[in-house]
Amino acid sequence: MASAFANAKKQIDNIAQILHSDYEDRKKFEKAISLLKKPQKLIKKTLKIKLDSGNFKKFTAFRSQHNNARGPFKGGIRFHPNVSEDEVKALSTWMSIKCSVVGIPYGGGKGGIVVDPKIMSQPELQRLSVAYAESFYPFIGPWKDVPAPDVNTGGSEMAWMLEAYEKKIGYQAPATFTGKPVEMGGSQGRTEATGLGGFYILDDYFKDRKLNKSSSTIAVQGFGNVGYWFAKLASESGYKIVAVSDSSGGIYSPKGLNIDLLLKLKEQYLSFENITKRKEYKSKFKFITNNDLLSLKVDVLVPAALENAIREDNASDVNAKTILEMANGPTTPEAEVILLKNKIDILPDVLCNAGGVTVSYFEWVQNLSGYYWNKNEVNERLKKIMDKAFSEINEMKKKKNISFRQSAYALAVKKIIDAMILRGRV
Ligand code: NAD
Repeated sequence: MASAFANAKKQIDNIAQILHSDYEDRKKFEKAISLLKKPQKLIKKTLKIKLDSGNFKKFTAFRSQHNNARGPFKGGIRFHPNVSEDEVKALSTWMSIKCSVVGIPYGGGKGGIVVDPKIMSQPELQRLSVAYAESFYPFIGPWKDVPAPDVNTGGSEMAWMLEAYEKKIGYQAPATFTGKPVEMGGSQGRTEATGLGGFYILDDYFKDRKLNKSSSTIAVQGFGNVGYWFAKLASESGYKIVAVSDSSGGIYSPKGLNIDLLLKLKEQYLSFENITKRKEYKSKFKFITNNDLLSLKVDVLVPAALENAIREDNASDVNAKTILEMANGPTTPEAEVILLKNKIDILPDVLCNAGGVTVSYFEWVQNLSGYYWNKNEVNERLKKIMDKAFSEINEMKKKKNISFRQSAYALAVKKIIDAMILRGRV
């Protein structure tokens, strides 16, 4: 399988073929495309922290700053053993695209530490977060680069990092990090924002295609923050969620699932596999593997777990009419060719999961103005942004007879290139 960054570069090359006729000055256009195929800056550091044992340990850490023509860099910090230069470069490229898709004034950034947080204590994770902020502080800030949580990081890491950053600069600057706890300047509505944004896109798509939500069936892979909130909000609004899964496998019921009950049972028994093994639930829910879930005959398949869930080897098993990508990069480019040939619409990640970064943007705006909104205000503003992005992408898709992803990328890349030209960078 090609590397994530090789895929990101390939996507930009593909879009260049759609966009090139929009630019009279080919030289400027080609220069801009070549600049978009590498980050503006890649910072790599070694962090050294004291472990609880008293020994010291070194960790490799990155920040990739892809493009800031449309505004400060923005993107999460991931704690994971597989973090690599290639990965942060790819993820920062996709963040530039995502911010442009929803029209929020940021470029793309991404950071990470090569670490397995599961084997670290809380105080060790705190020391690591502080070391990251102390080491990268010259490169970040509200008008430079605004980090946020990502895989295995959350409100606590952002709180520790902000405290360390503010100590370094000597004044309060809450807009430097988003995804903070509400008590220290986080936004209302951030927890459910990604799932809610995806739900708004689903509704927009159903309305545009005149589909009936009450007779529709949906399968959701992944039941973490994103999968749970998406499934809960969609089912409360009348869609029928017939399957959900976690890394142990999934649960299927053609009559539809009660999402809140499943959350409670999952908290109690830890995995869907354990739930279906219990006598009282054996007859109620059918256990399915994640492969079974991907091949269910449903209206909408929602990958909301990891990247590369739908690949060349399993794409032809997909039996859904539409895929709504909530995870980042769940469909490989090779799988996409097969799915499109099978007339399956793919609503792309850069649109469907942009609700998270949009509410992060709201958090930044609230921090900068010192004036805080209630949850209704946050959700209404999020809806406006998601609806507008869907309608622009849908219109261009129909006009140019291209895929949703091509349309999203073409619109987004054009906005970035136009900003680069206006700034005289090319
Ligand atoms: P999470 O860690 O809360 O949940 C991940 C879920 O996926 C868990 O239920 C886990 O059991 C399940 N899972 C893991 N491996 C699996 C497998 N092989 N098959 C099926 N399920 C599996 O993570 P999250 O925050 O919900 O993020 C999910 C995806 O959404 C990621 O790709 C992430 O990058 C993307 N995303 C998240 C946000 C956000 O705001 N949290 C924003 C944008 C994009």
